[in-house]
Amino acid sequence: MKIFNSLSKTIETFTPRNNKSITMYVCGITPYDTTHLGHAFTYVFFDVLLRYLKFKGFEVVYTQNVTDINDRDNDILARARQQNIPWQQLATFWTDKFLRDMQSLNWIKPTHYLKASENITSMIRIIREIVAKKYGYTVNGSVYLDITKVKDFGKLSRLSQDEMLIKAKEFEEDIANPDKRNPLDITLWRAASSQLSLPARNTSRINAGGRVAATAVAFDATQQSSKKTNHIPSFSSPFGPGRPGWHIECSGMSIQTLGDQIDIHGGGQDLIYPHHESEIAQSESATGAIPFAKYWVHTGTVGYQGKKMSKSIGNLVLVSDLLKKYSPNAIRWVLLSHHYRSSWEFKEEELVIAEKKVNSLKFVRQPQGSSLEYSSFLDDDMNIPGVLVMLQKNPSKSVLEMLGFTL
Ligand SMILES: [Zn+2]
Repeated sequence: MKIFNSLSKTIETFTPRNNKSITMYVCGITPYDTTHLGHAFTYVFFDVLLRYLKFKGFEVVYTQNVTDINDRDNDILARARQQNIPWQQLATFWTDKFLRDMQSLNWIKPTHYLKASENITSMIRIIREIVAKKYGYTVNGSVYLDITKVKDFGKLSRLSQDEMLIKAKEFEEDIANPDKRNPLDITLWRAASSQLSLPARNTSRINAGGRVAATAVAFDATQQSSKKTNHIPSFSSPFGPGRPGWHIECSGMSIQTLGDQIDIHGGGQDLIYPHHESEIAQSESATGAIPFAKYWVHTGTVGYQGKKMSKSIGNLVLVSDLLKKYSPNAIRWVLLSHHYRSSWEFKEEELVIAEKKVNSLKFVRQPQGSSLEYSSFLDDDMNIPGVLVMLQKNPSKSVLEMLGFTL
């Protein structure tokens, strides 16, 4: 089997670290809003990759996280403040909603499906290693990773420092934090006490368009409500009370459940920098085991009405809305008819056509067609669209089931 590795930027022969078993980690959601088609594109692709690897006889241990806390103030915590409900309640509500949406699409739940807030120890362990090995430093109770100590920092994204700064601004990393030695240093642990300087820091961030302004307004508007409900998560740690950074969560939970090194690390391509680059720097600094992930597999983005589907633009197509009109098989068919690395634009007509196609395939009762033919497509960088074209000419029950369609 061959697959595109974002680390080498080439299509490589897939050779797992162990003969029979494969470890896979895919970055999960930040649960403060509903599941849209962009999420479904990523998670349904990895669902099929999981199914195909099992079909080929591998055992797969698969971990996915839920970022129910992080070092940010602008996503889940801001939403909890706006609604004046505890962040845990908000996170549980949206996580359950996501799981229901994905299960409707016949998604296999990962072996380990973990909330960040329930796995803080795994992150503290990694941070302690990073500090002990002199890659990290502590200022005012927060801990950072000094990226200048990581010789190959940037090997995944291959961005220059200036390009990283632009991306870091887009992701609202705390690049203006005066405690950092370098604006791009990674926040591993954010001290609870650092909350006090938040409003000033938010407004002083370098221009990142409307999102910064919206963040500042959201924060100001919630100062009063925060007196009623505690919206600031804080966990005890050897560094003092605080909470983990977004990036260290995935290093911690991956190493905890899958070991120091893994076979496949997946996620949306927009996570390459800063999130995945940071995961590599943290994990490899802590364990010394290189590479942290042998194959980096990234999915493309989904657009709608001419723009990338995103919460900030508001052009979301929600899976729960589509399920009211179309079958899960039709939604799965549309998602899989686009190659996982492509970025594409959603058009509802595709669903209408897909519904007809899956209806005609529903009556396939006998395994037909050579699975070898189908495998040759999937072994070629997971060419699922090619398999779907073949299936229409030569339907096979076993292949349809292997792709997660329910007959
Ligand atoms: Zn992640």
